[in-house]
Amino acid sequence: MKAMLRIAIDGPSGAGKSTIAKEVAKKLGIDYIDTGAMYRAVGYKMKREGIAADDEAALGAMLENTDIDFAEGDIILDGAIVNDVIRTSEISKMASVCSALLPVREKLVEIQRSMGNRKSVIMDGRDIATNVLPNAEYKFFLTASAKERAQRRHKELLQKGEEITFEAVLSDIEKRDHNDMTRKLNPLRKAADALEVDTTGLSIEEVAAFILKEIK
Ligand code: C5P
Repeated sequence: MKAMLRIAIDGPSGAGKSTIAKEVAKKLGIDYIDTGAMYRAVGYKMKREGIAADDEAALGAMLENTDIDFAEGDIILDGAIVNDVIRTSEISKMASVCSALLPVREKLVEIQRSMGNRKSVIMDGRDIATNVLPNAEYKFFLTASAKERAQRRHKELLQKGEEITFEAVLSDIEKRDHNDMTRKLNPLRKAADALEVDTTGLSIEEVAAFILKEIK
């Protein structure tokens, strides 16, 4: 039997986690789990169903009837692929809000742990090394300056046809960083045994190569 390999990648928004994790997953032939997409899917469903963050009863009922999974790289919410609709700046804000709610985190962390304990994975997010998979074989904490992260994210949104200024993206990123780092539940933090990689000025290929070298 092949040994289980779990790689945790944490860091703030726009540090390049998902692109790099996808690349590493492909090279190693293991699954990639994008936990941010799961919070986005819940935020998207709350928005669509008009559920307020402080309406515990409605949120609880919604979560009981919510199914989130991945299939061949697609994120599936209640049987439908939602890859694109969860990537808007509006849903980024919803994800940041709903990720601070206990019932949302409980549900998603349970799914994430069961995915991570079933097979070899590379999982990215904010609390993977500290909370979801504390026994992961490899842990990386990716960072980059807020300015560079906002530039990357702005370019991505413009390519998708969203009309948004660089200043608005930078301010959103700073707000999300603040929410992620100061929330009570599983805040964004570098695990003591994680290797920190500053990706400012580095290409995706360079960071992926660095990670692959560490793993081999
Ligand atoms: O990584 P991404 O920007 O897609 O994540 C969306 C939001 O989900 C983040 O702003 C963060 O608040 C939340 N998140 C989280 N824990 C994770 C992954 C994402 O709280 N493990």
